[in-house]
Amino acid sequence: MVRKLIAGNWKMNGSVSFASELVGGLLTRIEQEDVSADFVVCPPAALLGSVLALTKNTKLSVGGQDCHENVSGAHTGDTSAELLKNVGCQYVLTGHSERRTDHGESNADVRAKSKAALNAGLVPIICIGETESERVSGNTLKVIEEQVVQSLPDEADPNQIVLAYEPVWAIGTGKTATPDDVAEVHNFIRGLLVSRFGDEPAQKINILYGGSVKPSNAAELLAVSNVDGALVGGASLKVEDFWAIGVR
Ligand code: PEP
Repeated sequence: MVRKLIAGNWKMNGSVSFASELVGGLLTRIEQEDVSADFVVCPPAALLGSVLALTKNTKLSVGGQDCHENVSGAHTGDTSAELLKNVGCQYVLTGHSERRTDHGESNADVRAKSKAALNAGLVPIICIGETESERVSGNTLKVIEEQVVQSLPDEADPNQIVLAYEPVWAIGTGKTATPDDVAEVHNFIRGLLVSRFGDEPAQKINILYGGSVKPSNAAELLAVSNVDGALVGGASLKVEDFWAIGVR
């Protein structure tokens, strides 16, 4: 079993004062308790500087929410993985469903971004998940397989990647997959990773569950086999809730 990873995706929320309060609250708790999970926060790009200044030399890691596939160049408004690494990030989300939907990112884009992250020395948290219609039509595992195969770069190092299974219909909706549904998909993903990397390396990869995780359902979800942590949106914006999800 790997150490659990609890990642908070702030999405396009927050402010300098919010960041200071939330990160301050998390750091106080991390310093005072014997914590059995690792925590990472992914603030919007404009807040990375503030958050990184607060988390320097602490146990709280920081990630970007997206990166460009190129190292540098004429890409106004984008941020490279190299730059995220340079300012002190350790992680970056790739292929979040809101990027796939809002920006039309394909598996090939996610693969290129994840490759850029690996090249920069970041850990990509590669997000996958089926839509509601894909689930209803019985295509969940087919879609997951395609996403895993097509989104993971050839260079993927099992020691340097995280996967996040986030059913699209459960993100920000209050709907959560049942533990049985989560178990089925997480076991399936583990199997795909075992085929690709071999048993021992594949067991070390954190597979996170995401989709309306909150303190009231976290214990049940995190107890499911092959669930090695959570990717948390809404509930990561409240220090008590985010903390309660990871610490039990
Ligand atoms: C997310 O943003 O990845 C997410 C899972 O959001 P929420 O927890 O709000 O559903």
